[in-house]
Amino acid sequence: MSSSPIRIAIVGAGPGGLTLARLLHVAGIKTRLFEREASANARPQGGTLDLHAESGQLALARAGLTDGFLRIARYEDQGSRLYDGDGQLLLADDDMTGDRPEVDRTALRDLLLQSLPPDAVAWGHGLREVSPRDDGRYDLIFDDGREGPFDLVIGADGAWSQVRPLVSRYQPQYSGLTFIEFGIDDVDANHPALSQLVGRGKMGAESAGRSLIVQRNDNAHLRGYAIFRVPVEWAERRFDVTSPAAMRRALLGEFAGWADTLLDLFRASNDQFALRPIHALPVGHYWTNRPGITLLGDAAHLMSPFGGEGVNAAMLDAAELAGYLVGSADWQEAVRAYETGMFVRVAEPAGEAAEAAATELSHISQELTLAHHQLHMQMRAAAGHAAAR
Ligand SMILES: Cc1cc2nc3c(=O)[nH]c(=O)nc-3n(C[C@H](O)[C@H](O)[C@H](O)COP(=O)(O)OP(=O)(O)OC[C@H]3O[C@@H](n4cnc5c(N)ncnc54)[C@H](O)[C@@H]3O)c2cc1C
Repeated sequence: MSSSPIRIAIVGAGPGGLTLARLLHVAGIKTRLFEREASANARPQGGTLDLHAESGQLALARAGLTDGFLRIARYEDQGSRLYDGDGQLLLADDDMTGDRPEVDRTALRDLLLQSLPPDAVAWGHGLREVSPRDDGRYDLIFDDGREGPFDLVIGADGAWSQVRPLVSRYQPQYSGLTFIEFGIDDVDANHPALSQLVGRGKMGAESAGRSLIVQRNDNAHLRGYAIFRVPVEWAERRFDVTSPAAMRRALLGEFAGWADTLLDLFRASNDQFALRPIHALPVGHYWTNRPGITLLGDAAHLMSPFGGEGVNAAMLDAAELAGYLVGSADWQEAVRAYETGMFVRVAEPAGEAAEAAATELSHISQELTLAHHQLHMQMRAAAGHAAAR
């Protein structure tokens, strides 16, 4: 990067923003990182993620965090099971030799936070808007003040980015799918049958216009999603997340006719429920470069969670952007090079996620899911044979 330091602001301390802050910190480049949440523990960070070797893990390796990652990675939780609504097992993949280990979101965030100086994140800074200045730089406007000026503002502020409007007119669109999230605590000790049902990894089931995904998290916790294709306001009318008993009753009603072995997942759920309407930006979302503003992660390319690429793409964005910024004498050219590469790189996974969302709960979705898993198992077996030769 050029010898006169530029002032860089990163908005959002999610996996993308934190990875970028860490990579620039390692390279000796100072940033200011602003996060809306009041503190690192203000909110549970959510479920489990599989980090892919060529993206999420690569970013952590470039950030010098592979050892820390290996301490929190759960290679033993890479299994998959598929059931039909009668509880019949359609497929069990218990192979744990893959290179997509699971990691809990909170553990990942802690790893990244601990790799930064203690005051690296300005907590409690919810960005309201980015204000362009006459000198070509930008001020950031928060609820209780203004920070700046900054030469480069990087929006890593997720789906509803406040930085995105400076470069793009697009807003995420509702995919037609709503997830109702639920959790089961201490499943191995308290619900051994459900522990067996889910296995070491995740399970899916689909029948009669409803589907279910349940993932094993660390500490024998299960996180599940009941999936519906419904108008966006339907779930808020149908479900009252403040009443756990009513939530369980409503979910059992919606899945009436499914096997008791599967419905027991709802009966065993704890009191934490959340409604998650799934939104996405258009596949191929891009913008014309605007000097001093860029985006990464969900802010740039929000996609449906099918395919599990969101976090991986966000972390690879961070690695690529940091690489260009560190390696180039012209930071504006570095940002342009990052954007051009990112637009191309992300189009394929975004397209696949959109296709998966479009076919979810369709007449062929169970067939497609099964075929996808079988193909994955065959490819792994073929790779294993090739390696053994
Ligand atoms: C139900 C569900 C399941 C998912 N499962 C997976 C999965 O299994 N695998 C996977 O790869 N991806 C999954 N995803 C997608 C994944 O969560 C995202 O792609 C990923 O978190 C994107 O990282 P990010 O850093 O870009 O954004 P985020 O994780 O959204 O982080 C953005 C950060 O910015 C902060 N912020 C937001 N607005 C402001 C503001 N105005 N001012 C300051 N700070 C702000 C937020 O508080 C947050 O800390 C899932 C998503 C959902 C909804």
